[in-house]
This record gives sequence, C-alpha cells and structure tokens, in this order.
Amino acid sequence: MSQVGSTMPVQQRSSDEVLREALEANGQRFTGQRAAVYRFLSSTDRHPTADEVFLAVRGQEPVISLATVYNTLETLVGCGLAVKLGYADGSARYDGRTDDHHHARCLDCSRIFDLPDPHVPGEVASLSRGLSGFRVTGYRLELTGQCEACVAPSARAEPL
Ligand code: ZN
Ligand code: MN
Repeated sequence: MSQVGSTMPVQQRSSDEVLREALEANGQRFTGQRAAVYRFLSSTDRHPTADEVFLAVRGQEPVISLATVYNTLETLVGCGLAVKLGYADGSARYDGRTDDHHHARCLDCSRIFDLPDPHVPGEVASLSRGLSGFRVTGYRLELTGQCEACVAPSARAEPL
C-alpha cells in the first residue's frame, strides 16, 4: 500500500493533513464534513456501517446528511484511505485500516474484528492450483463464528 506523497508514517501526521493531501491528489476538495468522517473512521477499529458513521459524526457536524456520509466514505475508498467490506446481504462496512490484514466476523452481532496475524497460510495460496485460465489477483479471507460477548450468554445457559 503506497502512501500519497510522503514517507512520513501516517500516525505522525494529523488525520486532517493525511486527508487533505489524498483528496487533493485525487482532484477532490477538503471539507469539514469529509474531515469529520475521516477523523472518526481512522480513530475506530469497529468497522462501522455508513449509518453508524452518520450517527457518530452528527454531533460535530449537525447538518451532515446520510448521503454525504455515504458519498464521503466512497470517496475515501477511492483515495485509498479506507477499505469497503461488502457482505452477501448487501450490507457494507468501512475500515480505516488499509494495510493488509484479515477479519473475523461474528455471525450473531455482526461485529468485525481485525486478526492480529496478517500472514496467509500456505494452503490458501495454493487453492488456485488446478484452476485453469483464472488469473488470481487477490483473495479475501474471513473467519466467521461467535465473538466473546455472544458466546458468553449461551455458555452460561448450558447445564453444568
Ligand atoms: Zn458477537
Ligand atoms: Mn480491519
């Protein structure tokens, strides 16, 4: 993942600076509403939906609309500042982390967790063996199950 125009790590620059630079490099304008969306997204590891981002930034940007939040999130994805995670039910979540990493998704509460280990097991890389004519350019690895909070109630309900 290449950073736009600077060798300085992102953490040492303010999210506003990072955003301004990326927007201008993509011919887009820096606005206070876009800044609020990016500030929130880059400060959370919760992989929010557009609705959740809207609810979170409405406090600082009272006139912001859900459509603006949605369009801003798509702009951030286009600028390489966010990743969109789409799901089979048509829902989408946004990730302010753009480095290579994988996710675990809770099937009960839909929370998404970052996996600490970015490495791919060798077996995944060899899955395309025997598939002729298909040029593999990427893959998506997702663990599914129940998160700690969702496992706990059923564990308590189980008889001793
Ligand atoms: Zn859960
Ligand atoms: Mn993530």
